[in-house]
Amino acid sequence: MKHDPNCIFCKIAAGQIPAKKAYEDEELLVFHDINPWAPVHLLVIPKQHVATLADTGPEHEALLGRMLALAPKLMREQGVTNGFRVVVNNGPDGGQEVYHLHMHVMGGPRPWAKG
Ligand code: AMP
Ligand code: ZN
Repeated sequence: MKHDPNCIFCKIAAGQIPAKKAYEDEELLVFHDINPWAPVHLLVIPKQHVATLADTGPEHEALLGRMLALAPKLMREQGVTNGFRVVVNNGPDGGQEVYHLHMHVMGGPRPWAKG
């Protein structure tokens, strides 16, 4: 599995940096965003290092499908019942700050801190 030793999310996936985990399997890890925009703000990451959505290819289609399909299950588990938002920031103009592919899943009652 590909890893980047300088990548903060690879370090979280490897257990070298702590995170509040919400879900984990062989391929994916989900943890709470350290600076949440919404009452529930999760980040879904692949354990393998992929920098951005633009770096994915046909070999990642199943992984991307699994990430998206997990969102409603995660929100149900977190007690979110009135809708949620899924966001993938991509590249500089997309506002991406951490260059390890991640999907934000945000929910919970409004008002939210941002967004
Ligand atoms: P983005 O702008 O899409 O790259 O978002 C990166 C997200 O990662 C931001 O919402 C940060 O709050 C979050 N983040 C950065 N470092 C950590 C960390 N150590 N644990 C949890 N979330 C983090
Ligand atoms: Zn990484």
